[in-house]
Amino acid sequence: MGKEAKLQDESISKVFGTGRDRTAFNGTGFMATNLVGAMSALTRRLDLHYLTLLPWAQVISKRGLLRRHRAWCPKCYQEWHDNHTSVYEPLLWSINTAQVCPYHHQPLQEQCPHCHQQQLTISGDSRTGHCNKCGKWLGNNRQKTVVTSLIKSEAERNRQLNIVNNLGELVAVTPTLNSPPNLQKVSNTISTYILQVLKSSIPAFSRQSGMNKATIGLWCKGKVIPQIDNLLVLTHYLEISLLDLLTTDLLLTDSKNSSLSPKLNVVKQPRKSYNHLYLERKQVLNVVLTAVEDIKLGRERTLSITHTETIANADLIVMDNSPFAEAQMSRRKLLDMEGMPRFWIASPEDIVLQKLLWGRASRSEKQWRDVLGILKLQGDNLDYGYLTQWAERLGLVDILSQALTEAGIL
Ligand SMILES: [Zn+2]
Ligand SMILES: [Zn+2]
Repeated sequence: MGKEAKLQDESISKVFGTGRDRTAFNGTGFMATNLVGAMSALTRRLDLHYLTLLPWAQVISKRGLLRRHRAWCPKCYQEWHDNHTSVYEPLLWSINTAQVCPYHHQPLQEQCPHCHQQQLTISGDSRTGHCNKCGKWLGNNRQKTVVTSLIKSEAERNRQLNIVNNLGELVAVTPTLNSPPNLQKVSNTISTYILQVLKSSIPAFSRQSGMNKATIGLWCKGKVIPQIDNLLVLTHYLEISLLDLLTTDLLLTDSKNSSLSPKLNVVKQPRKSYNHLYLERKQVLNVVLTAVEDIKLGRERTLSITHTETIANADLIVMDNSPFAEAQMSRRKLLDMEGMPRFWIASPEDIVLQKLLWGRASRSEKQWRDVLGILKLQGDNLDYGYLTQWAERLGLVDILSQALTEAGIL
């Protein structure tokens, strides 16, 4: 029987289940598999499993992976809304261990500020960006609307950000994986790292990390799929990213021939092989190219892409036919970096103006910080004539002079 017929036989509540079972539709298990199968048959799209964590099913345990309640970043909702980009629920928000927004560095919210209720991750009358209970808009870009008790110290904040960046990277590169990650490789990586890179033993590593000795032993043998929180603890002690930990057969290629020797002399923070870097760059490019395709097809207007490991950030913007857009286009620069394909980028003056425009519409702190960053970094290199001329035409004179003052230029 085809999956289409199967779905038709089931009511939505049967498919999604009731109560907390509904959370599993984003996950790695049976429900996500069925749902993706059915949706693929209905939509003829073959990439829907990337909307879930299914590609990681073999290497990340279902236990403790997903939130029971919906969580969101009010600032993200508000920014998307104000910038007229599509409002959506990132997969990252459904992961239990993601506690903060990677862009706004504040805790994700689980309680509606209007009706004070928690919500299931999906319900019959779900509306993106709105409360499922009272229907009100959940976006908000005011500062300090959140209880920050969760993040007590700078160290804790950094730990949370590190976790969410690791998870974000994982979600971002999923569509570029050539083959699903495999538990045997992961267990191999874990044991190689503990025994050869750290030159430790399972009991010693257990004492150091506070993780159960038997559990570590079972991971090393590939008998147990690790839970996400444990994987994140491992990445901390092994000093590699979650993505590397789960896909890393390339990481140790340099020492492949000699890696059988238990006394192998490997530096504590292994340098990545050229192959690995190359692959990483290709993955980033693929993500960018997919995003460009989305823009071309009109599915998105702007997209911000961050390569979490290098913190390289790219904003892709659709040009309209305005005189400002034409000026931006004519002043673009060809970036020619060794080892990278050449590509065009907007000039710093145009980025400043564009970000001031966005910032004015959304009162976005991020755009303001970016503007100040560019002004400080570029300093005297900027073409102030061009900046002020366009600031006048775009009605940005006051805000530009405020930015120049804050950046210490005026
Ligand atoms: Zn956010
Ligand atoms: Zn509500």
